[in-house]
Amino acid sequence: MADRIAINDLSRHASSTETAVRASVERVLASGWYVLGRDGEAFEREFAEYCGTDHCVGVANGTDAIELGLRALGVGAGSRVATVANAGSYTTTALAALGAHPVFVDVDPDTKLMDPDRLGRVVEEGNLDAVVVTHLFGLLHDMEEILRVASRGGVAVFEDCAQAHGARRDGRRAGSFGAAASFSFYPTKNLGALGDGGAVVTGIPEVAERVRRLRQYGWESKYRISVRGGRNSRLDELQAAVLRAKLPLLDGWNARRREIAARYSREIVHPKVRCPEVHGEEFVAHLYVVVSDDREALRAHLAEASVLTDVHYPVPDHRQPCLAELGPWPGLPVTDELAASILTLPCYPELSDEEVARVIFHINTW
Ligand SMILES: *Cc1c(COP(=O)(O)O)cnc(C)c1O
Repeated sequence: MADRIAINDLSRHASSTETAVRASVERVLASGWYVLGRDGEAFEREFAEYCGTDHCVGVANGTDAIELGLRALGVGAGSRVATVANAGSYTTTALAALGAHPVFVDVDPDTKLMDPDRLGRVVEEGNLDAVVVTHLFGLLHDMEEILRVASRGGVAVFEDCAQAHGARRDGRRAGSFGAAASFSFYPTKNLGALGDGGAVVTGIPEVAERVRRLRQYGWESKYRISVRGGRNSRLDELQAAVLRAKLPLLDGWNARRREIAARYSREIVHPKVRCPEVHGEEFVAHLYVVVSDDREALRAHLAEASVLTDVHYPVPDHRQPCLAELGPWPGLPVTDELAASILTLPCYPELSDEEVARVIFHINTW
């Protein structure tokens, strides 16, 4: 039987980056300095430059980045924040930590991103403090449109870029459009650490400074606490050094992901499978997600052929048990329909052309 094709394979990624990563780890080990030091500062500079933003502040993970970034923008207890319910509940989790309320907006059935018209209606109702836009699966949203809609209500826009490192339209990268933006460097992300990591990027110096304080107990200087809501959420030197070693390779990895995604979209031809359209640099193919009304049967067929798949995400936020009692939530028919029909195919830079061909073959012969 043919080898299994996994949904991702970080051991291949590790061997392709081993030399550079090992040198970084050894440098940090020998330095005797492990938290908030030279590599952290250098990574913040390099990643801000990469994103085209003035500031970057490293934090412990991508969910903290959403929480601390929003707090720095003034979101807190009782705030109302527009978000989608199909993006893995990370923003909703961050909002719960802030004591803020999610205002769920349904998504577009094709892009699977927040529907700007529906956002417009929520903005017109008033009473909204911010909107979090998630560039889901690696597709940079139409930020011009989102910013235009949000500006009608004077609402701050925050970008969740945890799946969209490097996505670019007209020369502008994900994270450079909103008032602030969050990134995750969880190992499977397009830019991944050897553990948890995250960052907030922003063009507003006061917001960057507030996140800097919030990530370290609220300290303005050592042992002097000037902002409330602070805690320990630091990116350590080991992770920063590893991320510095990988950052120069990110655009190449994204190009390979995009190449695989484009091939899927062109070559998968089946009446019961709907593929995303072929995208340019605005898509970094974090996940390649098809839609089928017969999702479970397709999934079982592929598993039988040793092609592993996943569902991102099976339970929309408003259906999560812990949120049910806070409802009733407004209807989100597109979100619900997608949750029952989406399927993620293997798509990562180290996947071989032969493996991609096998995935296509097994779908087309279903
Ligand atoms: C992974 C992810 C996060 C959270 O990142 P962590 O580092 O795991 O906390 C947030 N938003 C999206 C869309 C993600 O995919």
